[in-house]
Amino acid sequence: MLMLPDYRVRQRDFLLEISRAMTAQLDLGEVLRLVLRASVLMLAGKVGLVALRGAEERFAVRAAFGVESARLEDLNARLHELMASASWRTDTAFLNVKLNQMAVLLDRSLRQSLFLPLMIGGELLGLIIIFRSYWVQTTENDEQILQSFADQAAIAVHNAQLYSRILYERKQLAAILDYSADGVMTLDPQLRIVGFNRAVERMTGWTAGDALGKDIDQVIVWAQLDKGDLQQAVIEGWPFRLQAGDSAETLYAEGEMQRRDGLTISLGITYAALLDDDGHLANIIANVRDITHFRRAQEMQNVFVSTVSHELKTPVAIIKGYAGTLRREDAAWDPQVVQQGLLVIEEESDRLTDLIENLLAAGKLRAEGMRLSIGDVDLRHMAQDVADRMQNQTALHHISVQFPDDFPLILGDVVRLRQVLDNLVGNAIKYSPNGGEITIGGDTDDRYVRVYVRDQGIGIPENELERIFDRFYRIDGAMSRKTNGAGLGLYLVRAIVETHGGSIRVKSKLGQGSTFYFTLPLEAQERNH
Ligand code: ADP
Repeated sequence: MLMLPDYRVRQRDFLLEISRAMTAQLDLGEVLRLVLRASVLMLAGKVGLVALRGAEERFAVRAAFGVESARLEDLNARLHELMASASWRTDTAFLNVKLNQMAVLLDRSLRQSLFLPLMIGGELLGLIIIFRSYWVQTTENDEQILQSFADQAAIAVHNAQLYSRILYERKQLAAILDYSADGVMTLDPQLRIVGFNRAVERMTGWTAGDALGKDIDQVIVWAQLDKGDLQQAVIEGWPFRLQAGDSAETLYAEGEMQRRDGLTISLGITYAALLDDDGHLANIIANVRDITHFRRAQEMQNVFVSTVSHELKTPVAIIKGYAGTLRREDAAWDPQVVQQGLLVIEEESDRLTDLIENLLAAGKLRAEGMRLSIGDVDLRHMAQDVADRMQNQTALHHISVQFPDDFPLILGDVVRLRQVLDNLVGNAIKYSPNGGEITIGGDTDDRYVRVYVRDQGIGIPENELERIFDRFYRIDGAMSRKTNGAGLGLYLVRAIVETHGGSIRVKSKLGQGSTFYFTLPLEAQERNH
């Protein structure tokens, strides 16, 4: 029909219509079907193919008419061969040979092939190939019409490809956001939640389904807001008018947020404003971080500084007081007072040394782990030694040692293990202000020894049993205010025991006393802590 002049006007109308239909369509598959259908119709084709250039310059048939699908693989291979040759534009003879080979493969009745490249901006997107069962000479006019159709088709294909790429990228972005470890929320200009990823779900205890559409302050409920009030900032004109210290791009908020289940966590939220082309606020993207660990570490640092400075200042003040008193020239102290004063100075100096040693050990432990000097250790003997020395320092307590006679020697670090016993027995005395019985005992099986230190002191509340082994952790109470300590003893004890390959635990009853048990393998293999 193409060749008959009477049809020409109708052809142009048809072409216009089909162009509109093609360019209105964004679905690539649908565009290709339209292109194919129009080509076959216009050229009265018996067989039609639309192939697109894909990855690595390979052409593949993406829409076909009048072809069995079993033939497609073969066709693709031939297409590749045809297109890989640089001469297809100029070497029409080569092109014809290849197209004829294809035609024979498809249907022996085919007589003519037409080849329409789909070009955009000088780049080849794909091609349309039509085979007819009869042969007609094409005129220049026909070719112009066909070319303009192919140009329209190329635009439509290109748009649909761009659109599908955008869809893909949007899907990819959504997946990245959804699975990102950082929380991401999107807000509309009225501060309603329009995006809520999994990480924020986990942090806040809200599901995206429940949070979407809510005002941000219904979901992010601050129990305490330390800085960065979004609502207030927006009222004051953020992101267009800035307060001192704000940056145009972002606003940072930090505080304690009350989760949906009532628990609180520390959150840091960075809000970034997204403006549209007219400069209006389109969205706010909120990057949400759980900073609970960070804040706890900061808190620990503060506790550390205040405890340690207190712990250092007290003995220094006592030492200075006694030294000052003793050296007064106007007073003649009798020898007993001098002795007592010197004893206090000695004890306080020991306390300082212990504290500094513990601090150094804890610092070193964190920096480089612990190294053991392994040798034979007689724990039974060591326990007796510790008991004797400690007994000298207290009249309120009675310290006894109970080990079976066949208690074995173990392999371990003698200095460190002594530190363990010193700390445990020291604590037993310190935390039994009314005195009582303190027992150091042990038993063994064929692989491990177990040592315990038992007291009849104040005991430890159940919910504190785990935390007392943390660095700088002290139970808050009247007792901890009355006693000295930096909260390092049990931290070091556990590190030493675990480096030996053992473990430590505690049993306690409030008001009745505590027992600390630790195990050590008979042959300690140094294990990095
Ligand atoms: P410090 O004694 O310097 O505070 P530790 O790490 O040795 O630090 O102990 C941590 C906390 O555990 C103590 O502050 C105390 O509250 C508690 N604790 C340790 N040993 C005992 C014990 N035998 N009886 C009761 N409480 C104890």
